Amino acid sequence: MKKGMMVSAAVLAAALFSVPVSAQVSAPLPPPLPVSAQVDYPGTLKVYVDATDTQQRVMRVRQVIPVSKAGELILVMPRWLPGKHAPRPQADKIANVRFSAGGKSLSWLRDPVEVTAFHLTVPAGAKEVVAEFDFLTPMTTAAGRVVVTDVMANLQWENLSMYPAGYAVSRIPVELTLKLPEGWDYAVALDTASKNADGTVTFKPLPYEHFIDSPMFAGKYKKTIDLSVDPKVPVRLNVFADKPGDLAATDEQIAIHKKMVAQAVKVFKSQHYDHYDFLVHLSDELGDIGLEHHRSSENGHDSDYFTGWAGNYVGRDLLPHEFTHSWDGKFRRGADLYNPDFHTPMRNSLLWVYEGQTQFWGYILSARSGLYTPEQAKQAIALIAAQYDNFSGSQWRPVLDTTNDPILSARQPKNWLSQQRNEDYYSVGLLIWLDADTLIREKTNNKKSLDDFAGLFFGIKDGSWTPETYEFKDVVAALNSVYAYDWDTFLKTRVNETSKGTFLDGLERGGYKLTYSATPTDWFKAREKKLKTTDLSYSLGLSLTATGDIGSVFWDSPAFKAGLGQGMSVVAVNGTAYEADGIKTAIADAAKPNGKPVELLIKRGKTYKTVTIDYKGGLRYPRLERIDGKKAYLDDILAEKK
Ligand SMILES: [Zn+2]
Repeated sequence: MKKGMMVSAAVLAAALFSVPVSAQVSAPLPPPLPVSAQVDYPGTLKVYVDATDTQQRVMRVRQVIPVSKAGELILVMPRWLPGKHAPRPQADKIANVRFSAGGKSLSWLRDPVEVTAFHLTVPAGAKEVVAEFDFLTPMTTAAGRVVVTDVMANLQWENLSMYPAGYAVSRIPVELTLKLPEGWDYAVALDTASKNADGTVTFKPLPYEHFIDSPMFAGKYKKTIDLSVDPKVPVRLNVFADKPGDLAATDEQIAIHKKMVAQAVKVFKSQHYDHYDFLVHLSDELGDIGLEHHRSSENGHDSDYFTGWAGNYVGRDLLPHEFTHSWDGKFRRGADLYNPDFHTPMRNSLLWVYEGQTQFWGYILSARSGLYTPEQAKQAIALIAAQYDNFSGSQWRPVLDTTNDPILSARQPKNWLSQQRNEDYYSVGLLIWLDADTLIREKTNNKKSLDDFAGLFFGIKDGSWTPETYEFKDVVAALNSVYAYDWDTFLKTRVNETSKGTFLDGLERGGYKLTYSATPTDWFKAREKKLKTTDLSYSLGLSLTATGDIGSVFWDSPAFKAGLGQGMSVVAVNGTAYEADGIKTAIADAAKPNGKPVELLIKRGKTYKTVTIDYKGGLRYPRLERIDGKKAYLDDILAEKK
């Protein structure tokens, strides 16, 4: 700054100080919503849903809320949803909201902080308030997850009801009456009370907490398959399909699903439900889902789940994963994840148990039941181990910190996943629990295992589905009662601290080491096919779409060092138009003596440039290799439990 200007600035400042200047005053926050008291709500909420509009896919709601006094009433749409580990309301799709009492409309005001809460004033003498609104379900994936098609629907009551603030949701009874399109059937953990003359169905009242935890699949083409271990505790596989032919499950497929349920009950030594319903859609149109509930789960698979069984196996651990959550996540729940209502923020510090151990059991139960062969499971675990061992983000971001990711990044795409990390507590959690399992097996000469922990920790109070919360120290104590060890340090080292790569001790103690070879495993190929990708992450360090768009680049990989990243496309490889086989040949050729480096023509927007990648390591794909002379505990873990 020049001297002359400083003088004029000083003069200007003096002039400003001669007139009164008002300070900034922040408006105080509005009062918080009332505390959710452990008191019975005076009356039963009645929710009427009309879900017959499959054309414009609007669900219409009328809800009657009994009230016992005049004055303020706050009605809230659930915001912090269990299973999503984050606030994911869809209240932006609620329209035509109206409230009335005694036929007179009531004005409303949305809470500026709790934006899914509506403030009303109940007039003197009113016995009930009526809320009416429409849920404009997404017509396109751009607007959100599609939940209605011409032949099926997924109804989630958090978008179709409100609860009165001031009461614990476990103390608010609710009764649902529903109208579905003609000829449709449904599956839900709710108990049917009556099928009415007007074509509606009424369900037995239950606490609002369980109501929100009991979504519905409904549709034109449905098949229900019994998977029960004990006929007194029914477990049902309810399958909805785009077309009837997709429901054709073979006897062998049914037997595998039955075995999955039986193997889970053997591990967890309990059933925390009076009945359990797998809600499964085999649809290419309804939005994908995998969401756990206490007495049911929402699961999406491709339309050829049964009909393309032999080839379409990647992702078949979904059902055992969501089923495991009935124990791990719903019944036993981290204390910071359990709230008396659906508007208090949840915290996720124990998701490496909730999701991490569930991820572990999802794969293990798949192998024990035949959803995966043991070889497929090992190939899958090899890929998980390789991925996280190559994620540079583990050097700055502990797994514990990734438990904040559902709130922090809300599953939005990331350009530099390997450096940013996302919800790594799932799969790194699997590796940590594999580590714990093999340690217990090694120290006890295979007499004890993580199965014992699961039976002990999740198997308490058989039959109860009232959540039992736990803290870190409870996990340590349960592990110690299986095998006495410094589990506190074991877990804190792996969960709370950064590391170079991920922990592979569990694999090695299990008798296998992670290696790389020039040919991919069948699992790797099947996954590439499913994701329509060419995955060169472990050689060049990038993955590509069929048209050559760069899908991901591993941080610090050869591709990264050559300046590549998302938003770029590979147009040509060594002077020839891009093809998946062409780039693989170029990588293999570059590794030969005197082989020339891979040269890529890269396009970003309107700019083209030629990039030479300094890499001579050849094609590399992860796989597991037996360690000679070491006991294969991993094989024992994957073997059917007798
Ligand atoms: Zn899960």
